[in-house]
Amino acid sequence: MERAKRKKKWSVKEADQHYSISRWGGGYFGVNNKGHLCVYPNRKSTGPTIDMMEVIEEIKQQNISFPSVIRFHDILRSQVKLINKTFRDVIEEASFRGQYMGVYPIKVNQMREVVEEIVDAGNAYNFGLEAGSKAELLSVLALNENHQSLTVLNGYKDEEYLRLAMLGRKLNRKMIVVIEQFSELKTLIKISKEMKVEPLIGVRAKLSVKGAGKWADSGGEHAKFGLTISEILKIVQILKEEGLLASLVLFHFHIGSQVTDIRTIKEAITEGGRIYAKLCQLGVPLEFFDVGGGLGVDYDGSRSTAESSMNYTMKEYAQDIVYNLKQICDVEEVEHPNIVSESGRAITAIHSCVVTNVYDRVEISYTDYPTTKKAGEHLLVSNMRELTKDLNINNVLQIAQDAQNVKAEALNAFRLGVIGLEERAKIETLYWEIFKDIQMYLKKSDTIPDDLKNIDDLLATQYLCNFSIFQSAPDAWAIGQLLPIVPINRLNEEPTEICSLVDITCDSDGKVKQYIGENSPVSTIRMHKLKESEDYYIGIFMTGAYQDVMGDNHNLFGRLNEVHVFCDDDDPTDFYIEEVIPGTSAETVLASMQYSPQALASTIKKEIDKQIKRGKISPREGVRLCDFYESCLRGYTYLK
Ligand code: PLP
Repeated sequence: MERAKRKKKWSVKEADQHYSISRWGGGYFGVNNKGHLCVYPNRKSTGPTIDMMEVIEEIKQQNISFPSVIRFHDILRSQVKLINKTFRDVIEEASFRGQYMGVYPIKVNQMREVVEEIVDAGNAYNFGLEAGSKAELLSVLALNENHQSLTVLNGYKDEEYLRLAMLGRKLNRKMIVVIEQFSELKTLIKISKEMKVEPLIGVRAKLSVKGAGKWADSGGEHAKFGLTISEILKIVQILKEEGLLASLVLFHFHIGSQVTDIRTIKEAITEGGRIYAKLCQLGVPLEFFDVGGGLGVDYDGSRSTAESSMNYTMKEYAQDIVYNLKQICDVEEVEHPNIVSESGRAITAIHSCVVTNVYDRVEISYTDYPTTKKAGEHLLVSNMRELTKDLNINNVLQIAQDAQNVKAEALNAFRLGVIGLEERAKIETLYWEIFKDIQMYLKKSDTIPDDLKNIDDLLATQYLCNFSIFQSAPDAWAIGQLLPIVPINRLNEEPTEICSLVDITCDSDGKVKQYIGENSPVSTIRMHKLKESEDYYIGIFMTGAYQDVMGDNHNLFGRLNEVHVFCDDDDPTDFYIEEVIPGTSAETVLASMQYSPQALASTIKKEIDKQIKRGKISPREGVRLCDFYESCLRGYTYLK
């Protein structure tokens, strides 16, 4: 039995608490007294404030359809500054002799506007970029023009990849090729000699430490990437023989993304730091200690080791790296290296969100069917009706069990042709009435029987949201990633509808299966009852890392319209929309699947012409229908 919660008076403060906004929002999000979700670009509620409903109104005025991605560029800039300042402060506080020279791994969000913003905000800190594939390398070669910052090159590399890297060296870029597979070294040496350029080389070690959670397999002995200690020693020997030992400047490891427990970071630094020191003692002139990614994001705001959370702050992360490394270097009497981190998730996750409108609601527990008693009705219908009358606060569990039994018997009777459609409809209606009454009783009760704990899930209303989970939140579908979900308006009203959110794909998996709960994830979320006259908007937050760029076109739902918002303290609204990137049109998604939109339109035109010849469609209507088909081809893939 579980104690039911005492009811508090609803206020915007209560809304903040209910949706954990301050806990996951990192100081960037809050609720204003109009009950609208708002953004504090400076992480201060006393500074400029962007009311998200005002952004939505402006989006509507510009005739941009929902769903839309909204990017808050100031948040992105602020996160870049935050990580750089945090490391700089900790380095100073610890009297560490190396510098922080972070890089942004563009795989986390390769959108040009995102990378450009990060490069611009990071320029003052010589913040660099990381690429993990040839196409990413083509992009970072052109985007990272700061010759002081690093460009770290990871991933599998063929000759062309390595040639591009050496092209970067010719342009005097600090482009470090990280050897992840032993075979890459030989090719790199050959190409650098051929191109007469001195390479900068890194080695990625396979640490025995494994992260925990969803990305644990990126580390450990069986990781897909990285070199064993014996391979690293062999590389040192080969480079010595080739007279290239001076090129080996970076030591790297990556134990997986979203490290939830600070102890894992400590263990990795302890092991990695020791390898670094021993290599230095062998005469390897290492300058950079690259801790890879892994800095977590507290998606659920629980500050725990849960998979969607982390039990440490960015400052504690930096402190653990700097202090532990310093201690090892001092004991081993080697130079303090420059510290590189490849933090992507922590920089980008919070800057963007998906805003969708609720299109419709689906009530599973439909109770509008008339259930009045009819002479000679089947006993099962009468039995179910009796249960509705017998129900009281003291017998909820027994009545619930009886109702379930009658419903199961009714289903069997229907299959055998003993009862008809009308009787089945009555039994179902009475069944849902019973459970709705039970839910009401339980709200007033101090205790909830274990068997009825999931009553809210059973009765949850489905809110049909105009988006595709496969396009906009693929990790929520694929690996159960928890993302904060909050209504954008009406936060000054108590949300009373217990809901589950489903998308508009024709896929039963197209729904959000878990939401942030008070202590652990829950399977329903409280939203407001829909009003006929008012649009209801929901934000799916923290989609800026991976989600923005990994989505797929399931059901041919394409990329979303994108709105880029900048803060402007002098504007009455404190913001302006700098850029709108239109989402994918139906013709573009179709073309990506090898359809020719022109051929499709011409087929439809021929069919319409045939019907015109037969006199079934008038020529005027035929023209209208052709135009309509073509305008749909050019249109947005989501519901209007
Ligand atoms: N560096 C490497 C080598 C990676 O594989 C990844 C992603 O898994 C990252 C950096 C980015 O990690 P995160 O997003 O956790 O910062």
